[in-house]
Amino acid sequence: MTTSTPIVAGRSCGTCTLCCRLPEIDEFDKPADAWCKHCVAGQGCSIYAARPSVCRDFLCLWMTREDLGAEWEPARSHLMIYGQGPQITVLADPDQPDLWRREPYHGQLKAWAGEMAPAGGYVIVFWRDEVHKI
Ligand code: SF4
Ligand code: SF4
Repeated sequence: MTTSTPIVAGRSCGTCTLCCRLPEIDEFDKPADAWCKHCVAGQGCSIYAARPSVCRDFLCLWMTREDLGAEWEPARSHLMIYGQGPQITVLADPDQPDLWRREPYHGQLKAWAGEMAPAGGYVIVFWRDEVHKI
Protein backbone atom coordinates (compact mmCIF):
# COMPACT_ATOMS: atom_id res chain seq x y z
CA MET A 1 0.00 0.00 0.00
CA THR A 2 2.74 2.45 -0.94
CA THR A 3 3.32 4.83 -3.80
CA SER A 4 6.07 7.15 -5.03
CA THR A 5 3.86 8.84 -7.62
CA PRO A 6 3.70 12.65 -7.34
CA ILE A 7 0.62 14.36 -5.96
CA VAL A 8 -1.61 15.96 -8.60
CA ALA A 9 -1.28 19.75 -8.41
CA GLY A 10 -3.93 21.34 -6.23
CA ARG A 11 -4.94 18.19 -4.37
CA SER A 12 -4.55 17.48 -0.69
CA CYS A 13 -6.04 15.16 1.89
CA GLY A 14 -7.94 18.07 3.41
CA THR A 15 -10.33 16.78 6.05
CA CYS A 16 -10.25 13.20 4.73
CA THR A 17 -8.97 10.62 7.19
CA LEU A 18 -10.28 7.50 5.44
CA CYS A 19 -6.85 5.88 5.33
CA CYS A 20 -6.63 6.20 9.13
CA ARG A 21 -9.88 4.26 9.43
CA LEU A 22 -10.65 1.85 6.56
CA PRO A 23 -7.48 -0.24 5.96
CA GLU A 24 -6.02 -2.88 8.19
CA ILE A 25 -2.60 -1.67 9.41
CA ASP A 26 -0.37 -4.41 10.80
CA GLU A 27 2.08 -1.96 12.43
CA PHE A 28 -0.61 -0.87 14.90
CA ASP A 29 -2.57 -4.12 15.04
CA LYS A 30 -5.34 -2.00 13.58
CA PRO A 31 -8.24 -3.95 12.10
CA ALA A 32 -10.14 -2.74 9.04
CA ASP A 33 -12.95 -0.20 9.59
CA ALA A 34 -11.63 0.95 12.97
CA TRP A 35 -9.99 4.27 13.80
CA CYS A 36 -6.24 4.24 14.27
CA LYS A 37 -5.46 4.90 17.94
CA HIS A 38 -3.34 7.90 16.85
CA CYS A 39 -6.18 9.64 14.98
CA VAL A 40 -7.81 12.43 16.97
CA ALA A 41 -11.31 13.44 15.91
CA GLY A 42 -11.33 16.84 14.24
CA GLN A 43 -7.54 17.13 14.40
CA GLY A 44 -6.07 14.20 12.49
CA CYS A 45 -2.86 12.34 13.27
CA SER A 46 -1.45 12.96 16.75
CA ILE A 47 1.96 11.57 15.75
CA TYR A 48 2.10 13.18 12.31
CA ALA A 49 5.81 14.08 12.38
CA ALA A 50 6.69 10.57 13.57
CA ARG A 51 4.06 8.61 11.67
CA PRO A 52 5.44 5.36 10.28
CA SER A 53 6.44 4.89 6.65
CA VAL A 54 3.30 2.88 5.92
CA CYS A 55 1.39 6.14 6.48
CA ARG A 56 4.05 8.53 5.17
CA ASP A 57 4.44 6.72 1.85
CA PHE A 58 0.78 6.12 1.08
CA LEU A 59 -1.26 8.14 -1.38
CA CYS A 60 -4.62 7.04 -2.69
CA LEU A 61 -5.31 7.19 -6.41
CA TRP A 62 -7.35 10.37 -6.10
CA MET A 63 -4.17 12.10 -4.97
CA THR A 64 -2.06 10.74 -7.85
CA ARG A 65 -4.36 10.26 -10.87
CA GLU A 66 -5.20 13.48 -12.64
CA ASP A 67 -7.95 11.80 -14.67
CA LEU A 68 -10.09 11.22 -11.57
CA GLY A 69 -12.82 13.81 -11.28
CA ALA A 70 -13.99 15.64 -8.17
CA GLU A 71 -16.59 12.94 -7.52
CA TRP A 72 -13.71 10.63 -6.53
CA GLU A 73 -12.44 12.85 -3.74
CA PRO A 74 -12.56 10.38 -0.82
CA ALA A 75 -14.18 12.84 1.59
CA ARG A 76 -17.03 13.05 -0.94
CA SER A 77 -17.12 9.52 -2.41
CA HIS A 78 -16.53 7.67 0.90
CA LEU A 79 -14.39 5.33 -1.21
CA MET A 80 -10.65 4.93 -0.71
CA ILE A 81 -9.02 3.59 -3.86
CA TYR A 82 -5.42 2.59 -4.44
CA GLY A 83 -3.30 0.58 -6.84
CA GLN A 84 -1.91 -2.72 -5.64
CA GLY A 85 0.08 -4.65 -8.25
CA PRO A 86 -2.26 -5.58 -11.10
CA GLN A 87 -5.37 -4.52 -9.22
CA ILE A 88 -7.23 -1.48 -8.02
CA THR A 89 -8.41 -1.93 -4.45
CA VAL A 90 -11.49 -0.09 -3.23
CA LEU A 91 -12.22 0.23 0.48
CA ALA A 92 -15.78 1.43 0.98
CA ASP A 93 -17.00 3.25 4.08
CA PRO A 94 -18.89 0.68 6.19
CA ASP A 95 -21.48 3.34 7.05
CA GLN A 96 -22.42 3.87 3.36
CA PRO A 97 -24.37 0.82 2.10
CA ASP A 98 -23.92 -0.01 -1.59
CA LEU A 99 -22.33 3.32 -2.42
CA TRP A 100 -19.82 1.66 -4.74
CA ARG A 101 -22.71 0.12 -6.69
CA ARG A 102 -24.12 3.56 -7.50
CA GLU A 103 -23.19 5.75 -10.43
CA PRO A 104 -20.87 7.20 -11.44
CA TYR A 105 -18.75 4.87 -9.31
CA HIS A 106 -19.90 1.44 -10.48
CA GLY A 107 -19.60 2.28 -14.16
CA GLN A 108 -16.09 3.63 -13.70
CA LEU A 109 -14.99 0.62 -11.64
CA LYS A 110 -16.30 -1.71 -14.36
CA ALA A 111 -14.50 0.32 -17.03
CA TRP A 112 -11.19 0.13 -15.12
CA ALA A 113 -11.63 -3.62 -14.63
CA GLY A 114 -12.23 -4.02 -18.37
CA GLU A 115 -9.13 -1.99 -19.22
CA MET A 116 -6.93 -4.01 -16.84
CA ALA A 117 -8.33 -7.46 -17.64
CA PRO A 118 -6.08 -8.20 -20.67
CA ALA A 119 -3.02 -7.84 -18.38
CA GLY A 120 -4.59 -9.94 -15.61
CA GLY A 121 -5.78 -6.94 -13.62
CA TYR A 122 -9.07 -6.40 -11.86
CA VAL A 123 -10.88 -4.24 -9.35
CA ILE A 124 -11.68 -5.56 -5.90
CA VAL A 125 -14.08 -3.89 -3.48
CA PHE A 126 -14.13 -4.40 0.29
CA TRP A 127 -17.22 -3.30 2.19
CA ARG A 128 -17.73 -4.53 5.76
CA ASP A 129 -17.20 -8.31 5.50
CA GLU A 130 -18.04 -8.41 1.80
CA VAL A 131 -15.47 -8.78 -0.98
CA HIS A 132 -16.50 -8.15 -4.59
CA LYS A 133 -14.22 -8.78 -7.55
CA ILE A 134 -15.17 -6.77 -10.62
S1 SF4 B 1 -7.77 8.36 1.44
FE1 SF4 B 1 -6.50 9.66 0.09
S2 SF4 B 1 -7.25 11.76 0.40
FE2 SF4 B 1 -7.99 10.48 2.15
S3 SF4 B 1 -6.44 10.78 3.75
FE3 SF4 B 1 -5.89 8.93 2.59
S4 SF4 B 1 -4.45 9.64 0.99
FE4 SF4 B 1 -5.51 11.43 1.81
S1 SF4 C 1 -0.46 6.87 12.49
FE1 SF4 C 1 -1.45 8.78 11.94
S2 SF4 C 1 -1.45 8.83 9.67
FE2 SF4 C 1 -1.06 6.70 10.35
S3 SF4 C 1 -3.09 5.70 10.36
FE3 SF4 C 1 -2.67 6.47 12.44
S4 SF4 C 1 -3.60 8.50 12.53
FE4 SF4 C 1 -3.42 7.94 10.37
